[in-house]
Amino acid sequence: SVKEKTKNGFEFYTPEINQNLQRKVTLQKQLRMALENNEFELNFQPQLDLEHERISGVEALVRWNNKEFGYIPPSEFIPLAEETNLILPLGKWIMREACRQNKKWQEQGFPPLTIAVNVSMKQFNEYNFVESVSQILSETKLNPQYLELEITEGIAIMDHSITIKKLHALKNLGVKISIDDFGTGYSSFGYLQKYPINILKIDKSFISGIATNKENAAIVQCILSLAQHLNLKVVAEGVETKADLEFLLGTTCKYAQGYYVGYPMTTEKFERKLLSLKQSLSGGI
Ligand code: C2E
Ligand code: MG
Ligand code: MG
Ligand code: MG
Repeated sequence: SVKEKTKNGFEFYTPEINQNLQRKVTLQKQLRMALENNEFELNFQPQLDLEHERISGVEALVRWNNKEFGYIPPSEFIPLAEETNLILPLGKWIMREACRQNKKWQEQGFPPLTIAVNVSMKQFNEYNFVESVSQILSETKLNPQYLELEITEGIAIMDHSITIKKLHALKNLGVKISIDDFGTGYSSFGYLQKYPINILKIDKSFISGIATNKENAAIVQCILSLAQHLNLKVVAEGVETKADLEFLLGTTCKYAQGYYVGYPMTTEKFERKLLSLKQSLSGGI
């Protein structure tokens, strides 16, 4: 409850709670108009293929800039969008925009990248989620093999026949499924072999500082071994330093994402990064 009780039973709102509540209510109102007002954009964070030393993928991350509130992080507004169901149109917009942009890069002659899109629980549970992904793929003409859907363990462990059907339908479409923030959720591994999952993204809390944290190193080695046996690709998230990256180079992990590889960037900045890499590689580093 947001209310606090005094000794004699009176209830009152503390100024802080009141302020938080007010911000939430106003943000929710702003959120409803934000899509029409074009206040959202996507940022793109590179994923590095460690074996071939090239960018092989990119994660799309939504950004919201509001006139009144300025930048609001997704950790704050995604839960609000879920509460209000606004995540449904917003999620579709993100998916379409990510596929459209990825197709555009391919048409511009960049080496093909896989684009990873975060899917929220409510979005996944919408009855026509698979159809809407399929529709967006044909609309944007993106080859499904270049789309990856990031779901959370919460979705994966839902033991509903509908969930399993949806995951198989997505697999049949040709898109890939990854488990985001792996290691922070549930300890059940059963779903990993039961469901058609392609990728584990190890949560950043295990990766940042891994070179000097023996416990995290042990957990990561364990996940890598599990993934190898189940034939799953692994992406390490939260690679923040050279030491983090060097540690991973000594493991079986083949993909890295994080500030050290590249921050989430605007389209223009990301394109410049791709171009500069192309040049430095053809220049022979
Ligand atoms: P996530 O899917 O795990 O995304 C990775 C988050 O970690 C991003 O935060 C990214 O900016 C941040 N990050 C990347 N590299 C590093 C690093 O080296 N160190 C640290 N400390 N952080 C790093 P962001 O963009 O603030 O997003 C937070 C979360 O919000 C995401 O976590 C995701 O769950 C959600 N989110 C973001 N964009 C979307 C979206 O388009 N749709 C949905 N449904 N959720 C989204
Ligand atoms: Mg993600
Ligand atoms: Mg996520
Ligand atoms: Mg994550």
